Amino acid sequence: MKVWISFDMEGVAGIVDWEQCRPGSGEAYTLGCALLQDEVNAAIEGAIAGGATEVVLNDSHSRMANLDPRKIAGNAQYISGRHKPYYMMQGLDGSFDAIFFLGYHGSISGKTSAMSHTYNPEVFSGAKVNGRYVGESGINALVAEHYGVPIALVTGDSVTADETRPFAEGAVNVTTKESISRFSAKNLHPTESCDLIRAGAEEAMRKVAAGKMPLPGLASPSTLDLEMQTADMADVATWARGTVRTGDRQVRIESENLLEMFESFVAVNYITRQAGGR
Ligand SMILES: [Zn+2]
Repeated sequence: MKVWISFDMEGVAGIVDWEQCRPGSGEAYTLGCALLQDEVNAAIEGAIAGGATEVVLNDSHSRMANLDPRKIAGNAQYISGRHKPYYMMQGLDGSFDAIFFLGYHGSISGKTSAMSHTYNPEVFSGAKVNGRYVGESGINALVAEHYGVPIALVTGDSVTADETRPFAEGAVNVTTKESISRFSAKNLHPTESCDLIRAGAEEAMRKVAAGKMPLPGLASPSTLDLEMQTADMADVATWARGTVRTGDRQVRIESENLLEMFESFVAVNYITRQAGGR
């Protein structure tokens, strides 16, 4: 069985502030990377214990080079670095049996969650898939559905689990922390968090092997509505293929091809980031 892991950083136990997940911010970031590395390795070890024979990691946070490759467990392959065309979903294809979303976090539009955002918080104030507010997991589920690969494990705070559940009904959830505010949480001890992730990953793979993991269940066509912070950003967003204006600060991406929808969304991300602050 092949497993593909997209990992973010804000949902890792012990991480509660941007300082801890911003490259170049010194000791705090070094600690954040160490906490992340341990949770990623726990997921790899659990996946292998549950029957995985190949593991591919896709670094999905910030500059997307947050691990020390020498310390990666299980001889997993590591997709890292910036400007990947499929961003948080780079490297997934139909040959995989399971997806893990590790270290994920709450959406910009949802309940209080540590470091909540949906891709770029300076650009997006909300995103809806088929009319439902979603976090990054709901947008990323477009690619999972396209390739027919189920989301089998989700780790992060409880808001993350709740927001992902509509697209990952059978997934094993590991709650690493309870958010108190956007910059505070009651965290599991890192050892406990890793133990639960290891066990959760193994359980997830056993469920996948038993054929008990449903796909996200997204219809074709689907819609992705993006609410932008400013009308100016909505102007810029319409420069991306497949994006139409639906309001002063709203754009819509709609297609029968869910992968093309995600491609358009990534394009919106890159061009709005480039145009930021203009
Ligand atoms: Zn992140």
